[in-house]
Amino acid sequence: MKIAVYPGSFDPVTLGHMDIIRRASGMFDRLIVAVVANKNKKVTFSLEERAEFLRRAVEAEGLTNVTVDFYDGLVANYLRTVGATTLVRGLRAMSDFENEFQMALANRQINADADTAFLVTSVEYMYLSSSLVREIGSYGGNIRDFVPECVAADIAAKLKP
Ligand code: ADP
Repeated sequence: MKIAVYPGSFDPVTLGHMDIIRRASGMFDRLIVAVVANKNKKVTFSLEERAEFLRRAVEAEGLTNVTVDFYDGLVANYLRTVGATTLVRGLRAMSDFENEFQMALANRQINADADTAFLVTSVEYMYLSSSLVREIGSYGGNIRDFVPECVAADIAAKLKP
């Protein structure tokens, strides 16, 4: 069974993330969306909220081979614990590339079985990021075009000024 892990902050989940999840779920037997629990990284939504929004969005899409989990520490080590050898990451622009390239090499150094598969964004989500959603939401702007419909109200309520 080919298991892949899609790690990220998902602070909060966007339609860009869901696009990657939907496409990757068709490429692997099982996809684990892994929310990072890094205490040093400042986040707006708690680990539980980020995972819960993802779970609801995945369920609403009917993606039965996708599960949501979280990890602490190095993702290359987390891969071993779940029996996965592929990491999925999304690329929006060249500006994502340098950092992603470095992380992919580092992950393979730590875990020789850890290969990274990059999926290029769908063009309609090219500009979309969690930070954009947080920014618009924090000024009371409409975020409904950017996040899954089933969680939009909860995300907006938390970001509201
Ligand atoms: P991280 O803090 O680990 O970068 P994010 O939640 O910001 O976590 O992103 C997780 C992954 O999803 C990254 O690989 C990122 O490049 C990708 N991603 C984010 N937004 C988009 C988008 N609009 N289209 C494609 N990939 C995206």
